[in-house]
Order: sequence, then structure tokens, then C-alpha cells
Amino acid sequence: MSNIVAIVGRPNVGKSTLFNRLLERREAIVDSTAGVTRDRHYGKSDWNGVEFTVIDTGGYEVNTEDVFQEEISKQVQLAIDEATSIIFMLNVEEGLTDTDYEIYEKLRRSNKPVYITVNKVDSAKEELAATEFYQLGIEEYFTLSSATGSGTGELLDKIVKDFPTTDYKDPFEGLPKITIAGRPNVGKSTLTNALLDVERNIVTDVAGTTRDSIQTLYNKFGHEFVLVDTAGMRRKSKVNEDLEFYSVMRSIRSIEYSDVVIIMVDATLGWESQDMNIFGLAQKNRKGIVILVNKWDLVEKETNTTRDFEAAIRHKIGQFSDIPILFVSALTKQRILKAVEMAMQVYEDRKKKIKTSKLNEVMRPVFEATPPPAIKGKYIKIKYCVQLPTPSPQFVFFCNLPQYVKEPYKRFTENQLRKHFGFTGVPIEVYFRQK
Ligand code: GDP
Ligand code: GDP
Repeated sequence: MSNIVAIVGRPNVGKSTLFNRLLERREAIVDSTAGVTRDRHYGKSDWNGVEFTVIDTGGYEVNTEDVFQEEISKQVQLAIDEATSIIFMLNVEEGLTDTDYEIYEKLRRSNKPVYITVNKVDSAKEELAATEFYQLGIEEYFTLSSATGSGTGELLDKIVKDFPTTDYKDPFEGLPKITIAGRPNVGKSTLTNALLDVERNIVTDVAGTTRDSIQTLYNKFGHEFVLVDTAGMRRKSKVNEDLEFYSVMRSIRSIEYSDVVIIMVDATLGWESQDMNIFGLAQKNRKGIVILVNKWDLVEKETNTTRDFEAAIRHKIGQFSDIPILFVSALTKQRILKAVEMAMQVYEDRKKKIKTSKLNEVMRPVFEATPPPAIKGKYIKIKYCVQLPTPSPQFVFFCNLPQYVKEPYKRFTENQLRKHFGFTGVPIEVYFRQK
């Protein structure tokens, strides 16, 4: 599970500017996942090869004065609950304010590493002005210009160096990890309980420094798997349960820790933007995905109801639509065993490794029949391919002119892999490299 760096601070200090800067670096290098709208508040970054997650807690700021204080204190609480490291951002242009003191006071008591960062230090003049922030009673601060990026290196060096070295031993090493994600009230707890009813379970409260989660081992239905639930623990926190933002944030850690994400949707409400966010999270983290349309018992059915509902979801999730969609009722337990079986199938597919000989045997005729279109009279010849030994399927295709292989052909290749090898519910990466 990756470390989480949260950025907190008053509005306008430059949180999202830094957030975007951290993400862009990486997206330019790795994340080419087309078609996925980027989450504005959550993403992956890395520094010197160390990967981490970034949260911009300022996502849903409210402008009116009295809600404002409350919002900020929620943000801070969220960072304290979720993050490994907290960047507390201050603005040298505005200097210290009462709110800054309040935020700092909360953070100081949290026992989380806090990196006090003075932003908008674009020149030596501001560098001098930043000394004002010693008034917080701190030993050290970082100065930054999020706009130009200067100072980010020093800050990230320190943050990454301080990441806890993990001596955490997974008690369920090697078992499938599944999380049930979804908006509040879609029926996640009902499903969990329905599974519990037919199950004897052992609840293990794994207490790590920042990574407590409740994991329940299931060992029936002919399957053994672990249900990961960090939301259970989070109920204790003061963070407002109903806010969309927080429920997404709560799902993040569970998703990162899981192999398969069951995305639960309320049939009476349909697929909404937050479901898309969760979907994007699962996809970005290359997790297996199963969609459950729950409360199907409440829907009045006509001949094409299921088909239309399914088509609507597939239309919205776009390109990567080879995903199982099941219609269930957690309440009446209709098809919930089917859902478990499907999740296990996706788990197996995700770790499937295709032998190089088999892969080439199947793909060579495909490329011969449908080669990449020639560009400027140059022919692209794909010589051979391998699957990488990664946790989720990634394939490299070696060819003479990889720069000429465009997005549509990559998608074609992915679809051919799916057609011949069946990776239902599993995100696939396809790379073309020089040989
Ligand atoms: P947030 O509300 O904390 O997320 O702040 P934003 O990232 O939206 O930034 C608020 C404003 O400050 C924007 O107009 C940014 O362009 C500007 N800004 C952000 N970082 C810097 C910086 O390092 N130097 C300067 N001069 N302006 C900055
Ligand atoms: P959570 O917030 O996602 O954990 O949702 P809950 O499991 O607490 O369910 C919210 C409400 O929806 C409760 O009143 C449940 O009884 C109800 N509910 C959950 N699943 C179903 C279902 O399949 N059919 C019906 N009719 N109600 C359901």
C-alpha cells in the first residue's frame, strides 16, 4: 500500500498548483490512461522512484464564512486520518493568519509528520519574508514556489526519506483481497452482512502505524478470500459521512490494498459521477473490477430493463467496458454468491500469465493480418511480445518504430488480447518498445 501525502491549508495558498505539478510529472512519464478523467483531488506521484499518493484536501471548498472554518477543520481531520505525511501550506504573500494558527495546532497534536511549507516564494525577497513563519514556534520550514516548481525537490527529498519503513507483515499474504466500494447507502454493509450470515468470520484488526484496516477472512463458497474494509474503522472519526469527497477518500486505501474492487451502485439512482470516480481509482490502480447493481428488488422490470441499464453503464465507463456487471439484491441475497464467484474469476484473470511462446503464437497472425497503418511510407513491424511479471497484466510489444504506433492501434491490440486470452474485469497495459 502506498504512502499518502496530503496537502492542507487555507484556500488560495497554492495547494492545487502543487498538486497538479506533482501529478503532471508522473502522468507525463507513466499514466497515459486515456479516457479516464483525472480526479482533481487524488493521484499518484513519485520521487526518485518512490511512489506515493497525493491528496489535495482543498477540493470542496465552501465560500461562506461560517461553513468555511468547519470545512477547513474537516480537511485537516481527513489528512490526519488518511495521510502518512502532511504538507501544511502557507502563503508568504498573505503572511500568518489566525486560521493558520488553528490548523497548525490541530496538526501538531496529530503525531503525523507535518511539513510546514511556505509557498509563493518566487524570489529572494519572499525568502526573507518567510522568516515571519517562525512565529508558529517551529524549528524548520520549507520554502516553495509551486508556480515554478523551485523548492519541490528539497521538500520531497525529506518527505520520502521520512516514509515509515514497513515492518508490517500481511497475515493474509497470498489470499485474494476484495473491497466493496460505493457511495453511502448503496448497500455495502448489507452485502457484507449477507456474506457474514452464511459465513463464519475472523475479524482481524491489523494495527499498523497508519494503515489500520479491518480484514475479514471468508472461507466458504469453495473460495477463500479477504474482505478489506477501512471504512469500518473510519466510522469512528468525526469526518462528515455524507460528503461525497470523504467517502471517496475513505475508499482509497481499501482500493489500493485490494486485488479486486466491487463497485456497488444503487439501482434506483443509477451510475453517477462518484461511481465514475471510484471506477477511475480502481482502474488507475490497475485493480480488477466487478460492478454490482444493487437493490434490484426495488426496480420494476420490463423486458429490456436489465439490458438497458447495463448498456447505460457501459456507455458511461467508455473504452474499458469489458467489465462484469451483475444485478443483485444484498437484502434478499439474490445473486450474491454469483457476485463472489465473479470477483474470484476476475482475481484469477488478473494474475494470469500468458507464456511467451503462446502469446507470440496467437498474436503474430493477428499482426500479420492487421498491421499498424504505415506512416509517411514507413512500415511498422512488430517482432515479438512478452507479458511482464507485474501483479496486473502488462504487455510489451517490440517493434522497429514504436513512436508510430498510435492510440487506436494500441486499443486494437488490447482488444485482441482480451478476445484471445480473456481478461474480463482486468485493466491491461500495452506498451510498444524499440527493438
Ligand atoms: P488552493 O486554493 O490552495 O488550491 O490554491 P491554488 O493552487 O488554486 O492557487 C491560488 C493562486 O495562487 C493561483 O492564482 C495560483 O496561480 C497562485 N499560485 C500558486 N502557487 C504560486 C506560487 O508559487 N507563486 C505565485 N506567485 N503564485 C502562486
Ligand atoms: P452502505 O452505506 O453502502 O453500507 O449501505 P447500507 O448497507 O447501510 O444500506 C443502506 C440502506 O439500503 C439500508 O436501509 C438497507 O437496508 C438498504 N438496502 C441495502 N441493500 C438493499 C437491497 O438490495 N434492496 C433493498 N430494497 N434495500 C437495500
